[in-house]
This record gives sequence, structure tokens and C-alpha cells, in this order.
Amino acid sequence: MGTIDGLPPLREVIRAHDLVAKKQLGQNFLLDLNLTAKIARLAGDLAGSDVLEVGPGPGGLTRGLLAEGARRVLAVEKDARCMAALAEIAAVYPGRLEVVQGDALALDVAARLAPPVKVVANLPYNVGTELLVRWLTPPAWPPFWQSLTLMFQKEVAERIVAKPGDDAYGRLALLAQWRCDVRIVMTLPPEAFTPPPKIHSAVVHLVALPAPRFPADAAVLQRVTAAAFNQRRKMLRSSLKGLAPDMEARLLACGIAPTARAEEIGLEAFCALARNLAGPAPG
Ligand code: SAM
Repeated sequence: MGTIDGLPPLREVIRAHDLVAKKQLGQNFLLDLNLTAKIARLAGDLAGSDVLEVGPGPGGLTRGLLAEGARRVLAVEKDARCMAALAEIAAVYPGRLEVVQGDALALDVAARLAPPVKVVANLPYNVGTELLVRWLTPPAWPPFWQSLTLMFQKEVAERIVAKPGDDAYGRLALLAQWRCDVRIVMTLPPEAFTPPPKIHSAVVHLVALPAPRFPADAAVLQRVTAAAFNQRRKMLRSSLKGLAPDMEARLLACGIAPTARAEEIGLEAFCALARNLAGPAPG
């Protein structure tokens, strides 16, 4: 059966370019073009947007993004072996696909993109969380992107959307939900990938809020949540005592019980505490 873009099916692409998956590059490929088009659609209307894709590999998701109408795709791939396959896609979509060979962690891509920008990626699992944290902590807000539609291990996806009391609740949930609306929009079994990973995966859609959900200084909030969750089972009066000599009074001033534990405290209260800590000692 022909493909929507007239290019060969992905199994043939992989065979033709000898793209045997490398574990150290987190290569678990999506070969079903219906599935990659569906993931592209989860990012919303792509027409009129630039899309940043990290780790296009043999280009299944890239083809989905282009077929779904992305104005332009900037694809950053570390593996030189994928370049020829990606060049074939670029030839079918003149002027719409730019491929950069390199490490997404080392490149400054924002300058190469025109707003509005959507980030869509089936991320290499070994660098996924690190990239997300970087995208969520730019020097200024709003960031260079409007939304992130990202595949993670299901366990990481659950950490992003977790609420107080959930096992997965912690710093990643607070950081993501402080600055974005977050939602799991799809879960996938291991068999969806070639080769299949050991774990289930999930796509998370994050939409940047115009400003953080509650006011707080990013560095102070980061310090508070790090201290609180590094000892998540301890009472806050004990896990946070290194941050201020009068911590118990500050917790009370924010309406937080000093005997509460980090996992019980919501984002709004953490932000109130960060604001309190950034200000003078309670009188
Ligand atoms: N997007 C393809 C798909 O859905 O089939 C491939 C996804 S695969 C999970 C991750 C891809 O990221 C691989 O192609 C891998 O070579 C690439 N990769 C790994 N580390 C990278 C890095 N630091 N920067 C850019 N690409 C990277």
C-alpha cells in the first residue's frame, strides 16, 4: 500500500539505510505512520507553526508532522546514520524540513525557530527529563515554545501530571504545573515501538501559561521543593529547617502545618512559602 507522502514504508527505510536501533541512543522507533500522524494531531493545529522535533530517527513522526501541515519542522538528530533517510523526507517537502545533526542538549535551537513554536518529540528516554526541565526553566517566561507534546516512559509522564498524595508527586509535577497546563493524552504499549522497550510509554501535552500559575521566585521555589522532596517522608519543619531559622513560624504564616509532609502540600502553598522566604522574617 502507498504512503501518504509517496515515501517508502518505514521498515523499508530502515532496511535501506541499515538503521539498526542503538540502545545507547534510546532508539525505539515508531514505524506505524497512522500512529505518528495521530501523535502529530495531539499537538493541535500545526498549520502556521514551526515545530521542533528532537530525535527524528528514521523520520516516522517527522513525516506525520509534515503531512499534518506543520509550516516548518526543525529536527535535531544525534545519529549521523539517519541523515540520508531524513534528506529524502526533506526533498518531498521543499523548504519545510531542516535537519540538524547534533546533540539536542548542546544546541541552542530557539534562534532557528519563528513563533509560534510547538515542540513535538518521541524523546530518547535517557535525555527526556533533562530536556523537559530545561524547557521549563528558561531565563524568561513565556518561553520560545507554545506547547510541548512529548513521549516519555509512562512512569515519567505520571510524575509530570501527579497531584498531592500521588506516589509520583514531586518536584517535576510542581515545576511543570507551575508553568503549564499538563495532560496525558495517549498511552502506548511496548509493542508500538521497534524494538519494544521494557516499559509502557505515554504522550504528555503541556501548554505554557502566559505567566506562572502562582507568583514565586523560580530559584526560591526550586530550593524549597528540592529540600522538601529530598526528605519527602519527613515533616516539613524538619526537612526545611535549613532554609530559615524561623521556618516553623513561616510555615504557619502560610497556613501550612509544620508537621505536614511534602507529598501532602499543593503547588499554591509551595509558592506561598517561596514568597514568604523571599521576604523579610515574620514579625
Ligand atoms: N522520532 C523517532 C520515532 O518516533 O521513531 C525516533 C525516536 S527514538 C525514541 C529517539 C531518537 O533520539 C533516536 O533517533 C536517537 O538517535 C535520538 N537521540 C538520542 N539522543 C539524542 C540527543 N542527545 N540529541 C538528539 N537526538 C538524540
